[in-house]
Amino acid sequence: MSKGARKKRQTRPWQNPDALRDIGDLLAAAREDDGLALAGYEVQRVDPVRALKDYICPECGNVVPAGEGHVVVWPHGDPDLRRHWHRHCWRLEVRRGDGDGEY
Ligand SMILES: [Zn+2]
Repeated sequence: MSKGARKKRQTRPWQNPDALRDIGDLLAAAREDDGLALAGYEVQRVDPVRALKDYICPECGNVVPAGEGHVVVWPHGDPDLRRHWHRHCWRLEVRRGDGDGEY
């Protein structure tokens, strides 16, 4: 006996885990734009696809691996001092730099 017609499975965009993950990344990226600005510094977000090399994060000293979204930061007018930071490390720095004496 047949247990009923087998439903044809098709991959729909909204059922595609990869697509969902991309949307999640976009939302996360949008959120992460908040709180990255710090007075006196230029902050540029680097998307994973544009992260082509490994860098050393000046905050934690660990590698920012190629393919990981991160931020490039440099003091206004001094692009020679640009550094590649983990996003979370830069956010910590921003929090410290806001300097309200909260710890
Ligand atoms: Zn770091």
